[in-house]
Amino acid sequence: MASKKAIPTIKHDLVIIGAGPGGYVAAIRAAQLGLDVACIERARDLGGTCLRVGCIPSKALLEASERYAEVAHGALKRFGVRASDVSLDLDAMMRHKKSVVTANTKGVSFLFKKNGVTRYQGHGRLDGPGTVVVDGEDAARLEAKHVILATGSYAATIPGVVLDGDRIGTSDQAIAYDQVPDHLVVIGAGVIGLELGSVWARLGAKVTVLEYLPTILPGMDAETARMAQKIFKKQGMSFHLGARVTSARVEGDGCVVEVEGLEPFACDRVLVAVGRRPYTESLGLESVDLEVDERGRIPVNEHLETSAPGVYAIGDAIVGPMLAHKAEEEGVACVERIVTGYGHVNYDAVPGVVYTDPEIASVGKTEEELQEAGTAYSKGTFPFSANGRARALARTEGQVKILADAKTDRILGAHILGPRAGDLIAEVAVAIEMGASAEDLARSVHAHPTLAEVVKEAALAVDGRSLHR
Ligand code: FAD
Ligand code: NAD
Repeated sequence: MASKKAIPTIKHDLVIIGAGPGGYVAAIRAAQLGLDVACIERARDLGGTCLRVGCIPSKALLEASERYAEVAHGALKRFGVRASDVSLDLDAMMRHKKSVVTANTKGVSFLFKKNGVTRYQGHGRLDGPGTVVVDGEDAARLEAKHVILATGSYAATIPGVVLDGDRIGTSDQAIAYDQVPDHLVVIGAGVIGLELGSVWARLGAKVTVLEYLPTILPGMDAETARMAQKIFKKQGMSFHLGARVTSARVEGDGCVVEVEGLEPFACDRVLVAVGRRPYTESLGLESVDLEVDERGRIPVNEHLETSAPGVYAIGDAIVGPMLAHKAEEEGVACVERIVTGYGHVNYDAVPGVVYTDPEIASVGKTEEELQEAGTAYSKGTFPFSANGRARALARTEGQVKILADAKTDRILGAHILGPRAGDLIAEVAVAIEMGASAEDLARSVHAHPTLAEVVKEAALAVDGRSLHR
């Protein structure tokens, strides 16, 4: 009779469950600070949702589809570039995506080796205070004084919509369709719906977006979201706002999506993009008396500590925006606090970017949030259409908006719709982090001709003195 392999018990200073941006960055920082750290990841490849099926593959497809659309739809003609016989090689585009993902996930393996992080492949679960069990490939019983839960999230769905993992699917499927759909119905006009909807619209699909709330990108600055919706409409995406989807099902070769008060939509693919849920299943939370909140998140205090001594949680598994960089910063702050007693994330300076064309980026408060809080603010806006570099790029849609405290001039928020908004927002995030005023930004020298001059002009506009308008 084959003997059952004995499961070893191994001691570490810190055990992290999950190797997404939260977990893997925490592991690297812990190793830098001298801890003996282990990281458990169920998937073969490291990097989590972000690297494997999220940020990275979606951005590879956004970039590739934007290039295709520019050439195929004649956008380069104005530059004197005429192309004929343009065709789409979707397999090649997907190979590009795959190679970008592989380079990134391999990069994390390299960083683990370089920093001496011990990796266990398998499912990790708490088994009482100070103990984590790994089930699977690298089965083991680990003992550690500190445990960080960084298990991330998975795509949610809604009642009446049954995911079949093919025609009716989530972003996991929509980053890998083997054909351009004739008609893609997207449920949810949030970040995923708009980004992946854009990819397939650019590649030739008819895209219909159904959103339950009366606006796209709910929670974002309302003026910016309205301007963006007009642009996406011009690009060919159609929107039904205030649309309550009651069911989606496969019928024959296609799908039918039913919406309260509207005729059913017939399509060949459905992308369900209605938010994500923290992943806490089979995590052994009960073994340390932990309970999740009403939205499935692990409750933590401002130091990312759960109510179980020595157990911390970060990233998508806890409250806050589900963003890779937020997870990373929490990973660093959590580990630094464990080792040095100090670690902090400034949640007022976490930027968010929607990588559509044009991009939408924001940091800090929206106008609606300031109004609700009764904060008096000054507002400066400046359009890309009045910027020389934007004209040269033929990318003149959108504007930069800066919101500053009416009394102190301290920058409270910024909202950018326009070319490379995701890069431009970094300047304002740093300004907020440093407690800068709009005047500080306005007096900083910006190179000419750059898109960043629009940020400077918007900062000048807070005081009613932009120069080029
Ligand atoms: P995750 O990245 O989800 O990682 C958690 C890891 O834990 C996973 O690898 C999982 O397999 C593992 N795991 C879970 N439970 C266990 C267990 N019990 N044992 C072992 N392993 C376990 N954010 C951005 O900031 N920018 C973007 O452009 C962006 N684009 C996105 C595009 C898409 C399509 C999607 C779906 C998401 C995108 N996000 C983006 C969000 C981003 O991916 C997440 O916010 C980020 O990955 C969260 O990091 P995390 O470490 O908390 O969790
Ligand atoms: P989301 O929360 O951004 O958007 C979900 C949308 O679905 C919302 O507009 C919501 O009102 C709508 N919705 C919910 N129920 C609905 C229903 N029954 N019918 C119609 N609409 C409905 O979620 P997402 O787009 O799925 O993305 C998930 C998370 O991933 C987000 O939190 C986001 O931060 C993150 N993400 C970030 C990026 C980025 O940073 N560029 C990209 C992709 C994903």
